[in-house]
Amino acid sequence: MTGVGIVGTGISGLQLALRLQQSGVPVTVYAEEEVDRLKGARPRNFPARFGRTQQRERELGVFAWDFADAQVRHWAVTVRTGDPAPLEFLADLTPPSSVVDFRIYLPHLLNAFLDRGGELVVGDRPVEEIAGRHDLVVVANGNRSMRRLFPVDRSRSPYTGPQRILCAGIYLGIDEEVPHSLDIHFLPGAGEILRLPFYSPAGRADVLAFEAVPGGPLEGICHADPDADPAAFRRQVLDLVAVHAPGLRERIDTAGFSLTAPGELAQGALTPVVRQGWARLDDDTCALAVGDAWITNDPLTAQGANLGSHTAFALAELIAGGTGPFDEEFCRDACARLWEHARHVVEWSNAFLGELPPHVGEVFRRAAADKRVADAFVSNFNDPVTMWRTVSGPDGVAAFLAGFDGA
Ligand SMILES: Cc1cc2nc3c(=O)[nH]c(=O)nc-3n(C[C@H](O)[C@H](O)[C@H](O)COP(=O)(O)OP(=O)(O)OC[C@H]3O[C@@H](n4cnc5c(N)ncnc54)[C@H](O)[C@@H]3O)c2cc1C
Repeated sequence: MTGVGIVGTGISGLQLALRLQQSGVPVTVYAEEEVDRLKGARPRNFPARFGRTQQRERELGVFAWDFADAQVRHWAVTVRTGDPAPLEFLADLTPPSSVVDFRIYLPHLLNAFLDRGGELVVGDRPVEEIAGRHDLVVVANGNRSMRRLFPVDRSRSPYTGPQRILCAGIYLGIDEEVPHSLDIHFLPGAGEILRLPFYSPAGRADVLAFEAVPGGPLEGICHADPDADPAAFRRQVLDLVAVHAPGLRERIDTAGFSLTAPGELAQGALTPVVRQGWARLDDDTCALAVGDAWITNDPLTAQGANLGSHTAFALAELIAGGTGPFDEEFCRDACARLWEHARHVVEWSNAFLGELPPHVGEVFRRAAADKRVADAFVSNFNDPVTMWRTVSGPDGVAAFLAGFDGA
């Protein structure tokens, strides 16, 4: 076997590479650029990795951040419902999520792969060339360059444009009400404001993120240029927080509030899409897509990296357990099996971008009155299948809430 070629050194590609390596399958990773470039890059994402992802990392022997400064243990949720007082609840997230900057996380995984004898090829190479060298090529790189191979699957992609516009930075000067907690403010019609602890290259800091509904009151900051006038940008951020999340504003020290360094900010928008998960290449070989190359979710439900990790393990099992050939039939079958799990993430994530349905409002109301409901709801972010079964309709919510009746 000439093994598997993996294009991309994000969480999906690296966890797949490490898992195949563990299973004794020959694997080569293809990276666009040297790993040191990643360390010096601007932040592109702020992924929270839930318990199941951390468990997979432990199985791979790469989990390295078992300390409080890299964890979220509680969620403080505020929902503006139109009533004068918002709904509020504090929930325990069990197990805690891990919040490590990918500029720390990804080089750590890549180095583990290399230390164990893994092969890395750096440089831009056509997928067709890579496919010619291996039994199977897996594209795990959500970059634009790979998209031509995997057209959008319209039947699984309800949106044709971004549903949120993002402005998220890594800041100093924000205090926490509850240590190691995340704040999320749901602002119907406007979007969401989040604050979460984050283990960044500058050490423990906080991510402050605006997920703006296009055309709504949070959108302006997503287009403001922090480099052109840093003081004006800072003022605009503080003013928005004061209006839409006043409790959070009270915990920001105006004098000490700043990005951890210039450029530690990500702004932009993505359209949530599911792409065709496999492609036939020129010479009748096939390429599979995983991670963001296959499915791009809006970050709101914090699932993209977790889904990439889940898919990496599931695909590694199919490859290691397969007898070959890794042809079109294998790719088609693998894709169908992986979708069985992934569809829950996609349908839930897409639903959360729309208006708050009454049955989800009911979960929030019960969570505000009963901490057991709050804890269970928040902890289900670690279990997207259960989460989607719960919030997909009134029956799921009724069954979920019935579990707390009478106890
Ligand atoms: C603002 C934001 C917040 C997010 N929050 C969450 C969350 O809380 N939980 C969650 O599960 N998902 C979250 N996501 C989604 C998650 O980041 C992606 O789904 C995931 O990183 C996809 O990984 P991948 O390996 O499939 O593909 P890609 O990310 O496309 O990886 C492929 C290539 O991208 C490069 N790359 C990846 N990350 C970085 C980086 N940080 N800096 C520089 N280069 C990089 C690498 O070179 C790699 O080869 C968030 C995304 C954004 C934009």
